[in-house]
Amino acid sequence: MTLNTDQSQKIFIADDDPVISLLLESTLNKWGFEILKADNGVDAQKILLEIDTPLVLLLDWHMPGINGIEVLKTLREERPEVPHYVIMLTSRSEKNDIISALEAGADNFISKPFDPDELKAHITVGTRFVSLHLALTKAVNDAKRLADFIAHYDQTTGLPNRVFLRSRLEEAISSGNMAALFLINIDRFKIVNQARGIETGDLLLNYVGVRLHSCFADESIIARFAADEFGILTPTPLDNNNPPAEITDSLDSIAQKIHIAMEEEFTIDDGIKLTVSIGAAPVQCLAGEGPDDVIRKADTALRKAKHLGGNCSVIYDEGLEQEIREKFAIENELMHGIENHELRLYLQAQVDAHGNFTGAEALVRWYSPKRGIVPPMIFIPVAEETNLVFKIGNWVLNEVCKLISQYPDSDFTISVNISPRHFCTPDFASQVTHFIKLWGIPGNRLVLEVTEGLLIANVDDIANKMRQLAELGIRFSIDDFGTGYSSLAYIKRLPIAEIKIDRQFVLGIPDDENDCAIVKAVFHMATALGLSVVAEGVETLEQADYLNRVGTILHQGYYFCKPGPADQILKTWLTQK
Ligand code: C2E
Ligand code: CA
Ligand code: CA
Repeated sequence: MTLNTDQSQKIFIADDDPVISLLLESTLNKWGFEILKADNGVDAQKILLEIDTPLVLLLDWHMPGINGIEVLKTLREERPEVPHYVIMLTSRSEKNDIISALEAGADNFISKPFDPDELKAHITVGTRFVSLHLALTKAVNDAKRLADFIAHYDQTTGLPNRVFLRSRLEEAISSGNMAALFLINIDRFKIVNQARGIETGDLLLNYVGVRLHSCFADESIIARFAADEFGILTPTPLDNNNPPAEITDSLDSIAQKIHIAMEEEFTIDDGIKLTVSIGAAPVQCLAGEGPDDVIRKADTALRKAKHLGGNCSVIYDEGLEQEIREKFAIENELMHGIENHELRLYLQAQVDAHGNFTGAEALVRWYSPKRGIVPPMIFIPVAEETNLVFKIGNWVLNEVCKLISQYPDSDFTISVNISPRHFCTPDFASQVTHFIKLWGIPGNRLVLEVTEGLLIANVDDIANKMRQLAELGIRFSIDDFGTGYSSLAYIKRLPIAEIKIDRQFVLGIPDDENDCAIVKAVFHMATALGLSVVAEGVETLEQADYLNRVGTILHQGYYFCKPGPADQILKTWLTQK
């Protein structure tokens, strides 16, 4: 029996009296109702127990086998979730009978032989009750479907969301079939939102979603994972028997496909070009690994891709996790180390063509109780990613100014390495001024070394700060010259006093022709611009001699002096002079 029409228009009659039954049926038919019938309690009970949607029931009290009250009791007990509207048909209308009928779950009753008006009134109430219930059930189901949609889909793109993807990831892990999780983050999406408006940003997300579909197999789940991040779960033909390098290669080739798919301009507004960062991790169904572990791995890879400057992809491997743990540990220990006065100031002497001491470069060291003497190449990059770089920078500036103040009658300079992030803070110039004033030293004893990378940033801001500090006599030196992107145009616009030829070019002189050519070219260019030149990494007498033949160049390198604790270096070199 199918009951898919409007249930409020159907009435079930159970009566063993054929005359009454027929009479009821023809009356109700006349009123437009459809009738379902049973002529005994057993059949009535069997049929009713299988019906899932509520009806109006007319149940005869007296039937052979099972009577109406028992049918009703069973029905209410076994299918309490189907609220039929039950009218008992009875020839008795004693008070006790009415009570027991109501107790059994009847809603109303009619005495036989029935009065059509009374029947009509009861049927009207019953059908209203059933209609109301059906409407409520539909509303609840619609709300559940909506809630399910909201819980599992993203409203902006219509794509599955993180919750949905996570549950599929869980299934993939328990299936034992290897898959891969890709996390794709749009680089600088914030700027699109700010510059073009949220609506354009939303549209762009939709377009990106469509392009992603073109990169993955149909069975893949492409989900919106976070604001500007997509997560993709895709099956892979590989499994744990393939060597890790093969797995990495296969994921990397998918990532390359995504980068290529994003290259073409999106035709929104005047056109939008974008790049993405990608992190991927294989879903290897390892023992004890859950969906959140896989997400964390892919996210670790994505963070690394972002850290590398974006527009690239990183595939997770064990080493990556180790690297991040180590970085985190360094950051934590360094934070305490700075407070516990574990930083030390080292100096490396700079000398002229005759080996005379002219100044020194300040090189920071971290005396870690746990790690020993840590070189800056280990901890400065970590500090650069946090605010620790400002603390270290200010610590060095303060120490250097203090040191200079202890030698008021000397004229040696000290060069301090300045992190680009530190230089770019709004109050950098006033901080340096503060240290100079605090220790009462002349500005011309201080040199600030900046890298070429800094010069790509906001030139006007950099020029302003440099000029402000140059007025105090402070000089600026371009560190690692030749490794970055410096253009002469920039250097001409800025008050730069010195160029440091990077160690990698000094390494090859005097034998490597290219290095010799570069050193000579840099020297001539610098002197033409009125800049002085320092060569870094001078390790041999031959290198020093060659440099002296090129021209007036200051030397810094192991051949003359290895970096050492500041007081020792000054003691050695100032007495030698
Ligand atoms: P840098 O500014 O290029 O410093 C020169 C580096 O070359 C120093 O390494 C120095 O010890 C090394 N060096 C000098 N002469 C020779 C040589 O003849 N041969 C070889 N092989 N190496 C030589 P160090 O002290 O480990 O510093 C490494 C980098 O750490 C520095 O490179 C600089 O970028 C950064 N750094 C050091 N101190 C500070 C600081 O106080 N603040 C900031 N922000 N960075 C610093
Ligand atoms: Ca330097
Ligand atoms: Ca350098």
